[in-house]
Amino acid sequence: MKPLAYVRAGSLDEATAAHAAHEDARYLAGGTNLVDLMKLGVESPATLVDVSRLPLDGVEELPDGGLRIGATVRNSDLAAHPLVRRRYPALSQALLAGASGQLRNVATTGGNLLQRTRCPYFQDLSKPCNKRAPGSGCGARDGVHRDHAVLGHSPGCIATNPSDMAVALAALDAVVELHGAEGERSVPVTEFHRLPGEHPELDTVIRPGELITGVVLPSAAAGLPSLYRKARDRASYAFALASVAAVLDLDGDGTVRRVAIAFGGLAHRPWRARLAEAALLGAAPDDERIARAVDAELDQAQPLRDNAFKVPLARNLARRALTELAARPAPPAGA
Ligand code: SF4
Repeated sequence: MKPLAYVRAGSLDEATAAHAAHEDARYLAGGTNLVDLMKLGVESPATLVDVSRLPLDGVEELPDGGLRIGATVRNSDLAAHPLVRRRYPALSQALLAGASGQLRNVATTGGNLLQRTRCPYFQDLSKPCNKRAPGSGCGARDGVHRDHAVLGHSPGCIATNPSDMAVALAALDAVVELHGAEGERSVPVTEFHRLPGEHPELDTVIRPGELITGVVLPSAAAGLPSLYRKARDRASYAFALASVAAVLDLDGDGTVRRVAIAFGGLAHRPWRARLAEAALLGAAPDDERIARAVDAELDQAQPLRDNAFKVPLARNLARRALTELAARPAPPAGA
């Protein structure tokens, strides 16, 4: 039996100091992913630093109209928050599309961003996996990979990021706030998760010992029409085969003033669709323009033997989402 130490942090500095003082330490908040991985033997920390009681459980309205979400705000509470529902509906919808009610009641904002891939080879110690054991190979590439990536994958890893929430945050241009031994820093969500490249063991750009303290939703996206749509094998509870978060704001003449599109279920990180956005900006978003824009993005896809179906699935999701947003009346001022 491996001994496991437990430390309850009373402050941010206590948390980072405890993490630094204990070898092989992990932060624990909701534990909905970490504890599962410990049971499987994928994670085997020597110390758990409990950050769940830090004062990071609030949603604060910022002077410029944005929102700061504390890292330990529960997914259920965030999805139901009136300002999130009204100003950032894509985020509320994405949260409610993820996991089950019981899990959302426990899972936190910071933990959701840090959850690990559900690639079955990663979760099975008897299988090769470069993410779990660098250099051991990738069991999924020639194995079962129906759920895996079609964009941005590498020879070493074809895993997808499992978060719904992160896809909406990427489309909303949210920013992750971090606290570490070297102080505070902020990283846009679009740059927080990595593509696998030669180091699939690294999911994010977080530094050793750093702690997520919050996520800021910018005022620029507040009140704009946005939505999240997800395709999955089971309606009740399943990770995305493909999903899309979209924000679309039209000028008075019906042309696109602001657009943001992010795909989930297709890559090792939420995939911001910059080519599609560029093709829509300043144009009238009719069916043909939307179709061409989405195709421009998904033409980059490199599907594997068994997951080519994801490309038309994502294409149809994105087309439908953008068409729906383009048809909506403008929101009232101050929404
Ligand atoms: Fe591991 Fe990535 Fe290959 Fe899955 S896809 S087995 S996580 S290396």
